[in-house]
Amino acid sequence: MKESATILNLIKEHETRESNLRFDIDQLTSLNSKLRIAEEKSATLNSIIENTDDAIISNNLSGVITSWNNAACRIFGYGAMEIVGKSIFQLIPLDRLNEESTILKQLKKGIRVDHFETKRLRKDGSLVDVSLTISPILNSDGVITGLSKIVRDLTSHRAAETQSNRLAAIVASSDDAIISKNLDGIVTSWNDSAKRIFGYSDKEMIGYSILKIIPLERYDEEPKILEQLRKGIRVDHFETERLKKDGSLISVSLTISPIKDQDNQVVGVSKIARDITDKKILENKKNEFIDFVSHELKTPLTSLKSYIQVALHKSTREGFEFISQALVKAELQTKKLENMISDFLTISKFENGQMKLNLTSFDLVTVIRDSLNDARIASAKHPIVYCGVAVAPVSGDQEKLLLVLTNLLSNAQKYSPNGGLITLDCQQKEQSFLISVTDQGLGISNDDQKMMFKKFFRVSSEQTKFISGFGIGLYLVSTIINLHGSTINIKSEPGLGSTFSFMIQAN
Ligand code: ADP
Repeated sequence: MKESATILNLIKEHETRESNLRFDIDQLTSLNSKLRIAEEKSATLNSIIENTDDAIISNNLSGVITSWNNAACRIFGYGAMEIVGKSIFQLIPLDRLNEESTILKQLKKGIRVDHFETKRLRKDGSLVDVSLTISPILNSDGVITGLSKIVRDLTSHRAAETQSNRLAAIVASSDDAIISKNLDGIVTSWNDSAKRIFGYSDKEMIGYSILKIIPLERYDEEPKILEQLRKGIRVDHFETERLKKDGSLISVSLTISPIKDQDNQVVGVSKIARDITDKKILENKKNEFIDFVSHELKTPLTSLKSYIQVALHKSTREGFEFISQALVKAELQTKKLENMISDFLTISKFENGQMKLNLTSFDLVTVIRDSLNDARIASAKHPIVYCGVAVAPVSGDQEKLLLVLTNLLSNAQKYSPNGGLITLDCQQKEQSFLISVTDQGLGISNDDQKMMFKKFFRVSSEQTKFISGFGIGLYLVSTIINLHGSTINIKSEPGLGSTFSFMIQAN
């Protein structure tokens, strides 16, 4: 009996021990998993600390540095091995040593220290602008045992600030109006010159629509400009008119650029507006003068031409060969003068707003043939061939289109000093005719092509130096073609030749 009681006791004891052991194992497993989670958390924190761009430093209350991350090495120049264990005061400039105790007092009162901007010392003795965010390190009783600091290097921020201050100074002192607006056309900035030129103060413009300074009849300019900017095309020296506060119009030249955000999306537009009133007055005077001279020249030239023609007729009939040849040349020169005067008068009409198209229906090939005949008389050096359709019924201004072709053919001859074939083509393309003039002359560089249709533009090179001209022919050509609702295009290779082409609506 006694024996079996002992055995029972032993079994019980064994069972209790087993259950204790199971409890211990459970406890151990739970502790293990907590430890693993804590380890994972600590590894994550470590990786964040080591990979952040900000220096993360901690020190105890005696000012001894206890931790130092990678960014701290980069910003201050000390490696962790050489600085951990040293005093935090090593990083503080002499005149700022009291900052540390002020910060500690603040933290003890429970006041956060956030984005405190100051200067700190690098290993090489230079100063670095920093922003500090400081938190207390507390022990389990909630007592402060040290400080942990996040130090942001403000060097690039400061450089950006300086740059932006510099730009702001330039904008403020510029003689040109510098204006920015968002995509809804609301003005977001307005400098002093904008106030001087347009008469509105910044308070009267910022937050209001830019349409305030745009004349009604030019409202459509803004969306067109925006469309161009969206395509990445800069708008440079766009001459137009704007409204002043007193209701008068002012001539301005606009240079417009897109404002892009960090994702390269256009978020607004900046405009530089130059007051070109004086330039316009001068230009008008020049135009008036050219207009006057051209008119005055036209009448004597017409009578000179008639005298030459009569004399030529007589000398040919009477067999004076030398005189006839001289008179043919004289007639050619009067023709050139006549073309030039005609160009000037047409331009001056356009600039006075008097150039209207006299639209009729006609066969463009007849006009092409007239221009070819004139060009062939002007130069025998360049064979000219026509290789287009036989008839081209179009609707347009016959006289002005003749002027276009005359100019293009005369340029093809002038700028092919070594001769070479000139081809005139006219092909039907759906509802239009495509007309092109091709030469094998000097060709035009890409940069010059962009300037080609500006008034008075001439290519300046060794080869063109001795070729006479005023730089108005192509300006006139593009004006006339634009009035016909089309554009003139160039394809050209320096040294190989050029093709000028445009479309005209079929009738
Ligand atoms: P101009 O011939 O009176 O100088 P244009 O307006 O007709 O004025 O032409 C402007 C400039 O374009 C010319 O000075 C010339 O350099 C260049 N150019 C025009 N046509 C041609 C061409 N077919 N080939 C090469 N250059 C040309």
